[in-house]
Amino acid sequence: MINITFPDGAVRKYNKGTTALDIAKSISEGLARKIIAASVNGQVWDATRSINEDAALNLLSWNDPDGKTTFWHSSAHLMAEAVETLFPGVKFWVGPPVENGFYYDMDLGDKKMNEEDLLALEKKMSELAKQNNSYTRKEIAKTEAEKYFTDKGDQYKLDLLSGLNDGEITFYTQGNFTDLCRGPHIPNTGFIKAIKLTSIAGAYWKGDEKNKMLTRLYGVTFPSQKELDEYLLMLEEAKKRDHRKLGKELGIFTMDDDVGPGLALWMPNGTVIIEELEKLAKETESAGGYKRVVTPHIAKESMYLTSGHLPYYKESMFPPMELDGTKYYLKAMNCPHHHKIFAAEPKSYKDLPLRLAEYGTCYRYEQSGELFGLMRVRCLHMNDAHIYCAKEQFYEEFKAVNEMYLKYFKIFGIDKYVMRLSLHDPKKLGQKYVDEPALWKETEELVRDVLIKTNTPFVEVQDEAAFYGPKIDVQIWSIIGREFTLATNQVDFAQGRSFRLEFTNQDNKPETPLIIHRAPLGTHERFIGFLLEHYAGKFPLWLAPVQVKVLPISDKFLDYAKTVSQKLKKADIRAEVDDRHEKIGKKIRDSELMKVPYMLVVGEKEVNENKVAVRRQGKGDIGVKDLDVFITEAVVEIKERREE
Ligand SMILES: [Zn+2]
Ligand SMILES: [Zn+2]
Repeated sequence: MINITFPDGAVRKYNKGTTALDIAKSISEGLARKIIAASVNGQVWDATRSINEDAALNLLSWNDPDGKTTFWHSSAHLMAEAVETLFPGVKFWVGPPVENGFYYDMDLGDKKMNEEDLLALEKKMSELAKQNNSYTRKEIAKTEAEKYFTDKGDQYKLDLLSGLNDGEITFYTQGNFTDLCRGPHIPNTGFIKAIKLTSIAGAYWKGDEKNKMLTRLYGVTFPSQKELDEYLLMLEEAKKRDHRKLGKELGIFTMDDDVGPGLALWMPNGTVIIEELEKLAKETESAGGYKRVVTPHIAKESMYLTSGHLPYYKESMFPPMELDGTKYYLKAMNCPHHHKIFAAEPKSYKDLPLRLAEYGTCYRYEQSGELFGLMRVRCLHMNDAHIYCAKEQFYEEFKAVNEMYLKYFKIFGIDKYVMRLSLHDPKKLGQKYVDEPALWKETEELVRDVLIKTNTPFVEVQDEAAFYGPKIDVQIWSIIGREFTLATNQVDFAQGRSFRLEFTNQDNKPETPLIIHRAPLGTHERFIGFLLEHYAGKFPLWLAPVQVKVLPISDKFLDYAKTVSQKLKKADIRAEVDDRHEKIGKKIRDSELMKVPYMLVVGEKEVNENKVAVRRQGKGDIGVKDLDVFITEAVVEIKERREE
């Protein structure tokens, strides 16, 4: 018998050689139908693979990220089987899962694949899926594996094999298709109920343009048709809400070749949003006891050697510039500068916690192929802060940071979010992780404790912590269900030592503070990119670049329109007058297109009665109001940062 430990800590005995699927069945048939893979001692396995020793087991379904990945990767095998049926002689390279689905790189020889082929392939795939073919794992000797692919004439798989050692090679077979793969896979093809092949692209073999261009076929699959339909609807909506398209239409940001790739220029409308976000951050941080600091954009090489950014982070930094024989680097992170501020004056326990905040500008080298609108850039403005605290203050500090995230989510109507708690791997202490087993255990427990006690949804991921401590990646979903990684929240017990940061504790002894790195609003670039999609450009009143547009019916009422606008501005409302010689219908349409929340139409009646005819963006006419009443209501709506 072997001991199986479940995520809740329960331990049960099973026969040696049992499988995750058997175990699921022993709990309930309903559960077993949902299990597509398992995490066995932290490693993702086939649900049908024998477990021969004591193990910690986590059953994985479609709703687990690792379950989804296994599902999509298995679908790549199914797609390959279909391609082999319709394109005999095809040679395969690799077929990994990606963020939304999977792809397979293949050499079609002198054949070409077109859109019609995709439909035929989808049909073939569902036919094969319905056969409920099992994915069977087989350990195989290297010579035998080489013979298989030599006979098949697949030089790409032979190339993969050349990098593998005898004893670590496995084949997986489903139906009539066998692939060299380390797995894992779903139990059988019957789980794949809905299939969409999304695109055909070219990709150089091994990403090297000197090599042959292979065909990359992308697809996505789901365990039900309903989920596929929802996904396609979401894609369509996402296209309309593309932040690059909206960013241009609404005058939010621009990119210029002479400035350089990945360096966004914030236009006046975008700058308003930036300033509103910073105002929110300043208010919130001030209430939370933070102090603001300002630091230069560059620093000497020596500081980045101390921080460990050099050499470990070097490829993500801009190359150095030399001045008086010293190298200077553009900062990729604000932390080292803040540490120097901490170190500038002696500290006692009475000075802690010290919370230093800065909307810091950082520069990171992202490969040009990785750059994407505001989502992947080379210059970013980060909602950064570092909290220096004693160990016994950690719980409260971390809890407050967590609450700050939740407060922001509420303001922005982010209902779906998950915190991914990344932990260390004890086996890699001293290599990948700072060798402080006790501190790791302690901080990981503290962080977990906060998440549990505050009812925050979170998942745990092994072996993905930062070098210096556990971290939380915050993932949020926009209103149309697209996922964004917003920010990380990290605990750090190492940098304090590298920088020799100290405070005098209550026993009058020097002690190194723990450091929390946090950035709840991420960077302006990514967050505003997210908000553009989330709101489809229709920003709530408090964030809207132009909050009110005053629309005179004709030039006769222009003076009154200007008076209205002046009064609005006096009340700190961002107002503009549309003084063009255009028909009122056109003025309304243009304001609607620019997604201005309120339009105030003024004509004869409004002038005589000191009123305004109010229109709400997307809603139309909402009635005539006294100007003062409108102003009072709008000011409250802005102050409360209401969504509407
Ligand atoms: Zn595979
Ligand atoms: Zn930091």
